[in-house]
Amino acid sequence: MVLAGLLGLLIGSFLNVVIWRVPRGESVVSPPSACPGCGQRIAPRDNVPVLSWLLLRGRCRGCRQPISARYPLVELGTGLLFAAVAWRVGLSPALPAFLYLAAVSVALALIDLDVRRLPDAIVLPSIPVGLVLLAVASWGAGDWGAVGRGVIGAVALLVFYFLPNLVRAGSMGLGDVKLAGLLGLYLAWVGWSAFVVGAFAAFLFGGVVSLVLVAARRAGRRSKIPFGPFMLAGAAFGLVAGAPVASAYLSTLL
Ligand SMILES: [Zn+2]
Repeated sequence: MVLAGLLGLLIGSFLNVVIWRVPRGESVVSPPSACPGCGQRIAPRDNVPVLSWLLLRGRCRGCRQPISARYPLVELGTGLLFAAVAWRVGLSPALPAFLYLAAVSVALALIDLDVRRLPDAIVLPSIPVGLVLLAVASWGAGDWGAVGRGVIGAVALLVFYFLPNLVRAGSMGLGDVKLAGLLGLYLAWVGWSAFVVGAFAAFLFGGVVSLVLVAARRAGRRSKIPFGPFMLAGAAFGLVAGAPVASAYLSTLL
């Protein structure tokens, strides 16, 4: 958990770059990070996750321009998320697959909140990468049924999200449709309970938050609220609580 948390801090630092540059079509490797105020390159000692921001008291060393608290918060959040994933998944062959999903989720949720878009540059490669990582995990456990289930889940959730577009073009964003493929893969790999609970929870969370925003007059009925973060939160809920929620629901029903 400690190692995963430290790794998460470093990955979170990289995700800050991804979140800023990918929607703008810029490279995530070059040029090196620089202060937008004075253009000075960020020295390694000022690029230590969370710590550097605290030591610099949130200001550039060169021009004293404030640095958003969001940068250390993304690093800290990714670190905590990685530690939580390690706690939940354990030291198993599935750990890399779920750390990867966690990193992709942080980037996609924040980009969708920023620019209401889920970039193909992140979503599309993450489907084959996720499939390979999950296949490696299944290979360790000798459970090939899980991989087949994952592929079926990916196609099923992708088609489900695309369906509204057959009724009215553009009613479901294609970014959401592609993300549904990735989340369907992971959810079904874990099991059908996780799949059903995770898919349903996205709409439940999205509906509840929309109602609250409309009631608080923070949003109108026609406001566009990005759905990606709810899909990701729903999937996280399904992955963690899918089996107990599904069995509790069924036992109530029966
Ligand atoms: Zn500066």
